[in-house]
Amino acid sequence: MNIQDLSVLDEEHICPSCKNKMSCCEVPPVHVGDGLGWGSEVLFICLNDDCPTFSKGWDKVDVNYGHKASFRNMQLPGSTEQNVMMVGSKIAFTGSIVDPEEMREQNERYTNEKKALVALETCLQDKDITPVMTLVLDEAADNIGRLKAIDLLQEFNDLSCVDAIRNHSFKKTDLEQKCNLVISQMLKNHFKKECPYCAEIIKAQANKCMHCNADL
Ligand SMILES: [Zn+2]
Ligand SMILES: [Zn+2]
Repeated sequence: MNIQDLSVLDEEHICPSCKNKMSCCEVPPVHVGDGLGWGSEVLFICLNDDCPTFSKGWDKVDVNYGHKASFRNMQLPGSTEQNVMMVGSKIAFTGSIVDPEEMREQNERYTNEKKALVALETCLQDKDITPVMTLVLDEAADNIGRLKAIDLLQEFNDLSCVDAIRNHSFKKTDLEQKCNLVISQMLKNHFKKECPYCAEIIKAQANKCMHCNADL
């Protein structure tokens, strides 16, 4: 998930019932008709099991509605207005606690991907291979952008990117294979090859590697 406004991650919400710090949680997926449109990407929820709202809520729900559930105190970002949310179990929301550090990293990655996609359009004129490499090496980036970046790699025909690609572990084998093809083509264009022993780029016609001295 991506939070548009990262400042919510710095918010501190204190549960009015138990005075514990409320947890920042991802909003559950909205099902049509259940009225769960909070208009927010995260909610602050008191996940303290000893919180009176929660511990006394079971009996209240049982008496009033006749089913097994309780309440958690909840606040929306930017607000201290008190809400409650019905939960069917102790563990509801415990799996959706947002780790601010991780969320910042995810957002940064996402922002970089978007920037790189825009820069891709002009990178050849700008002679800037950076956005191409950003996308080629970003395992979380969208495939379409990465494939486009690999095509551009070929047009840059720049052997200085080979090491970064060779040292990257691709999760998608089709992308890796495509990169391998582009690298082979670029090496050919430059009359080069990779030494099979030390992986340094050397002249295609060399029969001894100038780096590791191996006979080829
Ligand atoms: Zn509480
Ligand atoms: Zn070598």
